[in-house]
Amino acid sequence: MATLSQFDVLTLRRDFPILQQEVHGKPLAFLDSAASSQKPRRVIETLEDYYRRYNANVHRGVYRLSEEATFAYERARGKIARLINAPSQREVVFVRNTTEAINLVAYAWGGANIRAGDRILLTMMEHHSNIVPWQLLAQRTGAELVYLPFDGQGRLALDDLDRLLDERVKMVAFTHQSNVFGTINPVTTIVERARAVGARVLLDAAQSVPHMPVDVQALGVDFLAFSGHKMCGPTGIGVLWGRRELLNAMPPFLGGGSMIDLVELDHSTFAAAPARFEAGTPAIGEAIALGEAADYLREVGLATIHHHEQELTAYALTRLAEVPGLTVYGPPAGLDRGGAVSFTLAGVHPHDVAAILDQEGVAVRAGHHCTQPLHRVLGVPATTRASFYLYNLPEEIDRLVSGLHKARQIFA
Ligand code: PMP
Repeated sequence: MATLSQFDVLTLRRDFPILQQEVHGKPLAFLDSAASSQKPRRVIETLEDYYRRYNANVHRGVYRLSEEATFAYERARGKIARLINAPSQREVVFVRNTTEAINLVAYAWGGANIRAGDRILLTMMEHHSNIVPWQLLAQRTGAELVYLPFDGQGRLALDDLDRLLDERVKMVAFTHQSNVFGTINPVTTIVERARAVGARVLLDAAQSVPHMPVDVQALGVDFLAFSGHKMCGPTGIGVLWGRRELLNAMPPFLGGGSMIDLVELDHSTFAAAPARFEAGTPAIGEAIALGEAADYLREVGLATIHHHEQELTAYALTRLAEVPGLTVYGPPAGLDRGGAVSFTLAGVHPHDVAAILDQEGVAVRAGHHCTQPLHRVLGVPATTRASFYLYNLPEEIDRLVSGLHKARQIFA
């Protein structure tokens, strides 16, 4: 497998204008890509090119600019289909983000398929965006939510699947990679178990599509949700992939222009997917720029990116172990460990840790990372999280570690 040398990363970093700056007089070490990644110049230029040269609405005009915009928008859909190995680009629905993708499925698929007494199986490590939409569905329908716990190392307790997974479970929705622990969950094992009881599977791929090869056909899931802004693309654009037969059997989520077949005064009929789920004017430039981001990631190579992040993570876990009073959550370095590293430092509030690191030019995130149930299990209200991407260097981890020593000195 190709690996990224120090030289390769330094070269890649030149693609990201934002990384060339100083913060508080120190070079920016951006260690918060799990929240939102930085954007390479060619993605920014693609967005600008749309607005400068061929800005027009899609699927409407017969004039040149509109045709060009429509062509670029649909070509971006094809690039996303290639990125995740979708059988057809008609299975790729553009939405705003992971959150909207999951809400779409919970509302449209859930409304048509979930009844009182049915169960939806989630895990204790889910992001709020893969909990709250299902709670709303459960409240509307009388369905019940059940949660698969995690063990002391932040891995799903698969032994509990036997207890939790039976014919009452109609949907299993879980994260591919935890945004707190970095755990990469065993998707095919869970899919197999879900299939055995006839349940559908939604995979929250917000933290996996940007960081590793993801093949929806190999994984065998029914729905996949991810966000553009975490994968070098713009904000305001995300993706729901779903099996075509499921999408076309689902009622719409939002009604309006572009998603219809015929509109009568008292009822309407609806277009097939993806149009059925893209009511109104979409985020055209953002979708086109997301297609460019997908090309960029494919060119660097998702396996290469993944390998680079695993090396950085292994290095970070070794270096963090040197800091007295530091507790890291999640599995040890290994194949099932991605590049999100959350920790607490005894005697120092996670927000203070992040504020001191900021003074050193090191950007990390502190808080509950939209995973309050997970943090409740850990027994801490918040953690500090460093997360890595293709443009990060081991020196940035060294700076993280020296910043943590400094935080200890200040608060000791
Ligand atoms: N799921 C996971 C695992 C995430 O990390 C995030 C973003 N932190 C989301 C869902 C939600 O993504 P968005 O805010 O882009 O909808």
